[in-house]
Amino acid sequence: MTDSRPLPHATRTLSARDGAAAREAAQVLRAGGLVAFPTETVYGLGADAGDARAVAGVYAAKGRPAFNPLISHVPDMAAAAALGDLSDAATQLAAAFWPGPLTLVLPCRDMEAVCDLARAGLDTVALRVPSHPVALAFLKEAGRPVVGPSANRSGHVSPTDAAHVAADLDGRIDVILDAGPSPVGVESTIVDCSGERPTLLRPGGIARADIERVLGHALPDAAAGDAERPNAPGRLASHYAPRAKVRLDAGAVAPGEALLTFGGVLPPGAEAAGTVLDLSPSGDLLEAAANLYGALRRLDDLGATAIAVVPLPREGLGEAIADRLGRAAAPRPLIPDGD
Ligand code: AMP
Ligand code: MG
Repeated sequence: MTDSRPLPHATRTLSARDGAAAREAAQVLRAGGLVAFPTETVYGLGADAGDARAVAGVYAAKGRPAFNPLISHVPDMAAAAALGDLSDAATQLAAAFWPGPLTLVLPCRDMEAVCDLARAGLDTVALRVPSHPVALAFLKEAGRPVVGPSANRSGHVSPTDAAHVAADLDGRIDVILDAGPSPVGVESTIVDCSGERPTLLRPGGIARADIERVLGHALPDAAAGDAERPNAPGRLASHYAPRAKVRLDAGAVAPGEALLTFGGVLPPGAEAAGTVLDLSPSGDLLEAAANLYGALRRLDDLGATAIAVVPLPREGLGEAIADRLGRAAAPRPLIPDGD
């Protein structure tokens, strides 16, 4: 069984004063590597948003015990428009505040360029055009959306300097693109423009009043509701929620259940299961994380009404996978990020 803990990476720090650094960092990212990059808010831990293994690697490097949808960073409005449906309000906000510390949640137009794991299985995508010149150079060179949660170990404070990133992630990521301290230092404001009226998901670097001035009306908070009921009006989904009933740590498959397994395990009753999906036949937790949301969606599409899940290893990414499956098994309200 493959260990999902991040293998020791030889972390290289590239100084953005070197004109070739952004291109070199982008090459590493395009090859599936992990690159911490500067933005005007905090340093982000970058990975190719369309590469589910690389995105799983972000979680492994952070040691994060749960998945959440990530923000995809792009260099300009045209790149954003290819990935998300910009409503009129979203277009106004983008025109006013991009590049800058504003993230827009939009209906996703390209589920491949921003993979399921990066969206936590949702059909919306969070997009941002940062204003930091080094971030923009890096994103242009990358030529694809780049997820970028804060480049710190889970539970630690967000890094506003390359040295903070190194202290947390040295040996766990490939490159740190060093451009000195981040000027804003707080996270981006997140506005949900995927519904009828924009709502505020997270306060941040752009003030609500400035957004309201552009919109010409109030920007209400997003209703904090049952996070696992994405289709209820006014309610925010934090994750894709399967329709099927999920049963964890199953030692056997009951009649009528589909089987979600790992590492080729076939518990008693598996022969009779209508559907068997293996998150990673080779027992690799990184691969299992990369396949997780796709598997849940596929089981729904196949009409599974009940899913038995074999016990999964709990180390490394196993914890985040178990957290996600646990929420599917027992719906409960949105858990704050604490990332
Ligand atoms: P971070 O990248 O660490 O600043 O955090 C990302 C934030 O964006 C989290 O609060 C996510 O829940 C939120 N987010 C990202 N994508 C979506 C989405 N599609 N829908 C709702 N919230 C999102
Ligand atoms: Mg953070």
